[in-house]
Amino acid sequence: MNIIDTAAKAQEYANEIMPFLGINKKREIARLLFEIAKRDNLAPPAILPPQYAKNFEQAKKFLISKRYPKNFKTAAPDSFYLPDLNLNFTLKADLKQEIFYPKNIFIENGEEGSPAAQNALKLFPKTSPQYFDYKNFPAAEANYSKRKETLIITKEKFDFVKPCPCTRDCFCCGYNLINLGFGCAYECAYCFLQQYQNLHAIILPANISDFLKKVESAKFKKGIFPYARVGSGEFTDSLIFDNITNYSKDIVTFFRGRAEYFEFKTKSVNIDNLLNLPPAGNVAVGWSVNPQNIIDETELLTPSLKERLCAAAKIAAHGFKTAFHFDPVILHDGWRENYKKVLEEIENALPKESILWFSLGTLRFKRELKKFIEARFADNSILDEEFLLAFDGKLRYADAARKEVYDYLRPLIKQKFPAAVNYLCMEKQI
Ligand code: SF4
Repeated sequence: MNIIDTAAKAQEYANEIMPFLGINKKREIARLLFEIAKRDNLAPPAILPPQYAKNFEQAKKFLISKRYPKNFKTAAPDSFYLPDLNLNFTLKADLKQEIFYPKNIFIENGEEGSPAAQNALKLFPKTSPQYFDYKNFPAAEANYSKRKETLIITKEKFDFVKPCPCTRDCFCCGYNLINLGFGCAYECAYCFLQQYQNLHAIILPANISDFLKKVESAKFKKGIFPYARVGSGEFTDSLIFDNITNYSKDIVTFFRGRAEYFEFKTKSVNIDNLLNLPPAGNVAVGWSVNPQNIIDETELLTPSLKERLCAAAKIAAHGFKTAFHFDPVILHDGWRENYKKVLEEIENALPKESILWFSLGTLRFKRELKKFIEARFADNSILDEEFLLAFDGKLRYADAARKEVYDYLRPLIKQKFPAAVNYLCMEKQI
């Protein structure tokens, strides 16, 4: 049964078997039926027999025990997130593997001569540019899946440098961010931009020099490192559009010899600019990594693990530093062996001395993202695991499951890469 039918059948059966319920209670029953039906490939009547459907409390308790077999006994009753099944399947992700070529290019007046704008015109000659004033910011089609149709080159005026916002009640590693773009061409099923980005376009700032001026005068916290770290991958992948912006050239030139370290956080292999620059010992490329089976399922349109590690080896051989982010770690059958294998592949691919740090964080996301994932990646299996509303209001694996991941991976990383710092990202002490 496809996901649209599964959702419809879950709603129909909730109406049929418990017609006496109000809208909200029916919504919870339908949601639980849907999630179990999707995960176990079962029809709703096979999940909730009539004898358990006599009253709401009994039916919900029964379904919760089926949907959350590992946690239903210990999780707080309000930690199960059961939103309605109003899923907009027209938002389905566009998974065609195509080279980024926008149909619309908007350039802010005053930035026509900027290197980013000039380069975009050169790279996409078949698209006629349109020009706009800051006060009339262009609109784009209201569909996240169409974001790659529109490129907006703008002058950033406000958002230059800031400490990483981290998350409520978490240990903060002291990272600092510069936002050199908004929007990404990859399709990671868990990406928060699906729900967060409201202008569906790729937006690139033209004024890198203004960012670097702000960095020049910023007072950075060092956090857990002996030096301050600055990175650019919060609202986009740091290198995916580097062939358009060429920002890596300005960044490396600016940071070379400075006290701060700069990190390009990426899944891409767009490293040509870096390989054509003299290296800098305080500039790292940090790859987000996952086992290949997880990449195939959830990090769609991204380079494979092998390709990422091959790029990392070239970066290390060239003389830049590297870093790796096991983030998000995604639970699945065989996760221990699979993540261990990724560590072994890193070990075999590049010299340990090039690696400055590893970060780790298990999959977590704002509750609002859940319906976007379901609508855009109907076949996803990442949501079949048990997510609970956690200390920061996000959906996370239970404390015990996250602890198991960290207790397994952190010592393994320490043992294999003793000189690299390894730390938890957006996590509390558990
Ligand atoms: S690479 Fe990062 S920004 Fe791009 S889709 Fe994946 S998670 Fe989102």
